[in-house]
Amino acid sequence: MDTLTTPGPNNLDAYWMPFTANRDFKANAEFISRAEGLYYFTSGGHRLLDAIAGLWCVNVGHGHPRIVEAIQKQAARLDFASSFGLGHPLVFEYANRLTSIAPEGMNRVFFTNSGSEAADTALKIALAYHHARGEGQRQRIVGRQRGYHGVGFGGLSAAGMGPHKKQFGMLLPGTVHLPHTHDPAKNAFSRGQPPHGAGLADALEQMIATYDASTIAAVIVEPVAGSTGILVPPVGYLERLRELCTRHGILLIFDEVVTGFGRLGHAFAADRFSVKPDLLMVAKGMTNGAVPMGGVIASDRIYDAITSKAAPGTVELSHGYTYSGHPLAAAAGLAALDVYVSEGIFDRAAGLEPHWEQCAHSLKGLPGVADIRNLGLLAGIELGENAAVGKTLAKKVYEFCFERGVLIRPVANTIVLSPPLTIGKDEVETIYATIAAALRAN
Ligand code: PMP
Repeated sequence: MDTLTTPGPNNLDAYWMPFTANRDFKANAEFISRAEGLYYFTSGGHRLLDAIAGLWCVNVGHGHPRIVEAIQKQAARLDFASSFGLGHPLVFEYANRLTSIAPEGMNRVFFTNSGSEAADTALKIALAYHHARGEGQRQRIVGRQRGYHGVGFGGLSAAGMGPHKKQFGMLLPGTVHLPHTHDPAKNAFSRGQPPHGAGLADALEQMIATYDASTIAAVIVEPVAGSTGILVPPVGYLERLRELCTRHGILLIFDEVVTGFGRLGHAFAADRFSVKPDLLMVAKGMTNGAVPMGGVIASDRIYDAITSKAAPGTVELSHGYTYSGHPLAAAAGLAALDVYVSEGIFDRAAGLEPHWEQCAHSLKGLPGVADIRNLGLLAGIELGENAAVGKTLAKKVYEFCFERGVLIRPVANTIVLSPPLTIGKDEVETIYATIAAALRAN
């Protein structure tokens, strides 16, 4: 048993937990009490190999000493400073460093505190850009089915997950959705990028035919959809989307909240696919998950269009958060970036990808496995002959793995995996061997 104090059952009611079956959790609560490197330790005595990097964020494992130290020092030196008309040096330094790894020509960063805020910020920047250029009628946002962009009204509207929306009414008017790219009939068990489906991007042309390009502000997609089961873009799909957006004056937003900071063996998915968006959203791995932070990296063209028209002394973009560029987050971000670069973490992830892919696809043929998808150090194992069966099985596999010391994540009928990029080959094998044992046991 972990010796850390755990709250008694009477203390559990006040915390309304996010995306959680509150009552179920509280009926059988087991707490994460400590973390170190690749492992969590729980109040129930479990040592869990963290195969999901916290929640897609702890890219160099838990408690990296350089990140911990940077946060501690910053807390003592400057705990908070508003960025409204003021500023502190660290956040400027961090913005510079961040743009040094961003795609060329993307040299402006707007800081937020989460991926959800990054989504709303990116959408607002897109609208402000068109407004500044005298095209304020471009207001329609194009999202994608099975997309996830957090839970703000903008990101949720653009997202394509029905269950997340049904409690919240109409959301943003004028939001339309491209089809998702999941096609198990044609692409099941493809390794890396699936071969079929580039033409799905052409649905944008149909939207343009219906609504006219002059009403469309932006297309927002995750280069690889994470939370909805690791949907890898078909070969040529993102290129096609880019080409259509450019041709019709529509901005392309990449939500790289999951794919950023090495997850695909490059700084960003934009580098992996050689497709440059106009706005690039980040969060999670930005600070290695240690302090909440998100942001939007904008192309110079967008920044210039919005700022050049503003009269001197007026605010160019009426947007911002109390904690935009928070000193502790900036310190964590700088330290995480130092670690990523000095320890060659992105290349390390790229080097491990073949082994990761091999191990993931070793599950093919085991009972209940319907599809396997992977790219970088991401994998989705889809289960069951139908969604309901798969969902039940995914939960059982989760419980089996938890009991045997591996933390995976079931999302509906798919197990998603996104380990710290510092994971070793042995631990990768442990993850897949444990999932295999779970599948054989069911
Ligand atoms: N976009 C993507 C692609 C995400 O995966 C997430 C979170 N899982 C978000 C946005 C939202 O981030 P946050 O939870 O930090 O608001």
